[in-house]
Amino acid sequence: MKNKKIGLDLDGVLYPFAEIAHKVLKERHGFEWGLKDFWARELQVKYYEPEIKAIAQDSNTYCIEEIDPYIPVVLNQLVAMGNTIYYITARGKKHREVTEWWLTESGVPFIENLHLGKHHKAPIAKELGLDVFVDDRDFVVRQVGKVTLALRYYSKYMTEEAWRESEHGISSLGELIGMKL
Ligand SMILES: [Mg+2]
Repeated sequence: MKNKKIGLDLDGVLYPFAEIAHKVLKERHGFEWGLKDFWARELQVKYYEPEIKAIAQDSNTYCIEEIDPYIPVVLNQLVAMGNTIYYITARGKKHREVTEWWLTESGVPFIENLHLGKHHKAPIAKELGLDVFVDDRDFVVRQVGKVTLALRYYSKYMTEEAWRESEHGISSLGELIGMKL
């Protein structure tokens, strides 16, 4: 992929949010489910959804985990190939400082292209003229897929079954490098 505009979601794609949400809920409720087991149970995830959303908007959880060291390597290589990176997240605008700090520490490029408070990602993908957008959630991929190429990145928490069933998926961000658009 060369000279393209690449949009990335933060939580679940760059930031290992699923691990954190699972850890917080496990401590809070004392359940026994492991990471994959928890996220594989649809009803259970729905039941805890309000809490999961609250954790996603709690900046105290934004610096707990480090980035997968492979990700900055991939993103910097994409930039060396002439691509521009954009970060698009539903995190509130008041979380700019902590989010920029984490991105800077992570060594990823184009931190100035951070767009916060984007609960609906299709309009911003269109406005920026993104050539591709990567998100961890199915419904976001479907929505953004109406305006540009949207890919689902299978985060670590996905089960093998979900990995096989998901459409428009990539199993690693590194796949973007060789992709022909
Ligand atoms: Mg996400």
